[in-house]
Formats: sequence, C-alpha cells, structure tokens
Amino acid sequence: MLKVAKFGGSSVAGAEQFKKVKKIIEADPSRRLVVVSAAGKRGADDHKLTDLLYLCHAHLTYGVSCGDIMNTIRQRFVDIRNELGLHYDVEGEFDALSARLSRDMSVDELVSRGEYFTARLMAEYLGFTFVDAASCIFFGFDGQIDRERTDSTIAAALKANGKILIPGFYGRLPTGKIKVMTRGGSDITGALAAAAVDADVYENWTDVSGILMADPKIVPDPSPIAHITYAELRELAFMGASVLHEESILPVKEKGIALNIRNTNRPEDPGTMIVDSIEEEQSVERFITGIAGRRNFTILTVLKRNMNTSMTLRQSLEILDRYHAPVEHITLGLDSFALVTSTAALGDGLYDVIADIQKTCRPDDIQVQDSIALVAAVGRKMTFRPGISGRLFKELGEHGVNIRTIAQGADELSIIVGVDNSNFETAIRVLYDGFAG
Ligand code: ASP
Repeated sequence: MLKVAKFGGSSVAGAEQFKKVKKIIEADPSRRLVVVSAAGKRGADDHKLTDLLYLCHAHLTYGVSCGDIMNTIRQRFVDIRNELGLHYDVEGEFDALSARLSRDMSVDELVSRGEYFTARLMAEYLGFTFVDAASCIFFGFDGQIDRERTDSTIAAALKANGKILIPGFYGRLPTGKIKVMTRGGSDITGALAAAAVDADVYENWTDVSGILMADPKIVPDPSPIAHITYAELRELAFMGASVLHEESILPVKEKGIALNIRNTNRPEDPGTMIVDSIEEEQSVERFITGIAGRRNFTILTVLKRNMNTSMTLRQSLEILDRYHAPVEHITLGLDSFALVTSTAALGDGLYDVIADIQKTCRPDDIQVQDSIALVAAVGRKMTFRPGISGRLFKELGEHGVNIRTIAQGADELSIIVGVDNSNFETAIRVLYDGFAG
C-alpha cells in the first residue's frame, strides 16, 4: 500500500499544525510521499505566505521597499524551526534570497519560496528526504507539464529514498527557470506525484472533513459526502460547488487512483472518498450525493408551429455561439425549444441575439425569462430508479417553488431544475431536507 499525502496551507500554517501532520504521517507507514503548500493563515486576521510573497513582488515592481514583509515571512519560518527544535538554516538561506531580490529574481521564483521553505522544514521534521520540485516537476516549452519526465523522476526519487517530500505549486521550465502553477497548484503537484508512483490513494489534507453535500451558507451544517465518483464530482463542480478544480485531479482521475479529502484538524473523520466507480451501494435511502446550483441564467424560448426543429435549433445555437453565450441546457418540444444561457455571458448581446433569431429563423414567438437559477441534484443512485424526479418536483411544488425548466443529464447523473433566483436557496434546502439530509 502506498499513499501520497498532500497538506494544504492551513495544515502547515505553524508549529502546532506541523505536529498534527507528523502524527498523521506516523500513524500510517504507507504515507511515504508528502507534498506541502506554503504556510497559510493561522487565524482569520493572519496572512498566507504566498499572498505576502506576491505583495513583496508588487512592492519591488513599484520600487517600494519590501523589507518589512520579507522579515515577517522570515520570522514565520524561524518560529516554526525554533518551536520544533529543527536545525535548518532559515536565516542563511533567507538572507541569500533577500540579497538577490531586486537583481535577478522572477516573480515565480520569489513566490515559490513559500513552498520551498515550508517543505525544507517539514522534510527535516518528518525525517523525509527533501526533493526539490525544481528537480522533479518539469514543464515543457508549451507551459504544460512534461508528464513522462516528471513521472519517471518522481518514481525514481521515491525508489531511491523510501520516503520523500516535495514542495507543491512549482516546477522547472526547460530554460532552468522556476515556473509556478495556478493558485492552489499544490493540489496539482500532489496529483502528479500520486500518478507518478501509482499510489493506491491520494490523500488531500485540508481543514474540512470532506466535500459537503450542499453549500453551508445555505444549508446549516450539511453532512460531508462519504463516497462520490469522479463523474458526480464533475457535475457538482460544473454546477457551482466549490470542490477541487478539475485540472488538479486529472492525473489521479486518469489512472483511477482514489482521492481522499481529509481534515488535518480532525484526522479521525473519514472525509470524502472520490473513486472511479462504486459497486457496493451502502444506502439505498439516500439517492442524492450532493446539491449545487448557480444563479443568473436567461431562458430563451423559441416557438414556431410546424418547424423544422433541428434546423431552427442549429441556427439558434450558432447565433448564441457568435455572441459567446454558452448554452448550458436545451429542452425540446415538438414546436418549441428553450435554451438556457448565462445572463452575464449574454450581456448586452441579448437584443442582437433575439433580432438575429427573428431574422434567420422567422419564429412565431420568442420569449425571454431572466433571473433564473439552476439547481442540480446529483447522484449516481438516481440512475434507473423510477419516480425520483416526480418526488423531487412534488416536494419543490409543496414548498412553493415554481419550476421554470427541467433538464436531466443524458447519463442520468443529475436532475437540474430552473427556478426563479428568489427561490434558489429554498430549492436547495428543500432538496437537502427531503432527500439528502
Ligand atoms: N501556496 C499556493 C497558493 O496559495 C499554492 C497552494 O497553496 O496550493 O496558491
């Protein structure tokens, strides 16, 4: 058994968090490859080191001294080292870094130092071999990860050293320069590492006990999702749930490696397990895996008696495409269809779109409804189960939620309802209370 464990910024924010990480690593000897973010916030009014490093660079750009910010960052590392009784020469390395600051340092190299120093300290603390991301995460000239080279280098480093620790978020360009990934990129490093060594599980340790079934700002204290498939996760993310970014899970998803989201502050919680497919259906009662939604859509309904639907639909889609308005859903009737698109994407183009459809398709009528929210109930267990949509719609109706449009994903993984923006939160609560909680 081999596990790759990635710890996010809040999990490595200070010495106390480092201690929790060590306990977690020591509790399971199969956790042999660790990836860390830069130290994050220790409390609400604290700062992430990555943010401070970006701030430093902004100061440099405008010719303003960033000495104070650099000292704050340096002190964070010195405190961690001292509190844990480590030996790493933070001062020496940090001062060498400061000396190079305004001369020859790119913004990417500067901000990558948050991960670098955090990883140096954590590697010593855990007794793991430090493997610099600049020597094992390789970008190609196109800015994409060179997977072959990255995979073989990480696999070889693990084989040679037994237990390794890699800083997240950055890698090396063919020119030798450091390049950082998008914000939150340590998740990508973790997934790349897990894929490189064919891990059995990729653990992503954070400060929540998994993905929640609904937005806690809408549903009080929603339960975490115990098991979810990658396909369900994709639906939830698409519908607005704030879960791991798709790009960041691709390497493990492709290889069918299970991804376990865990809470560093509550390691006893099992968290959320994301897998390719789930054979054993533990509970048949709870058939919704999660609920998500987004506000502010516009529905364009085109009516034309005896129309050649496919041609009119194609022409209308082309028109929306011309105005860069993505079509999220389509519902079809015999002599009508409705297109759901983002109101913001449509912007001022709405009247031009209507005029173009009038001119090209000559419909009997075009209706526009805006201020629509889409709410999706996502669940693999809904597939092939009769009567589910009926129950959902009945429950929404009984709570006064008027359904303006309905769509079901072709793979039956989700049922999506369009409701008035004003009913958005009620719809989510009704679905949660009735079917998920
Ligand atoms: N430290 C980087 C950031 O704040 C990367 C990460 O945390 O994953 O975005």
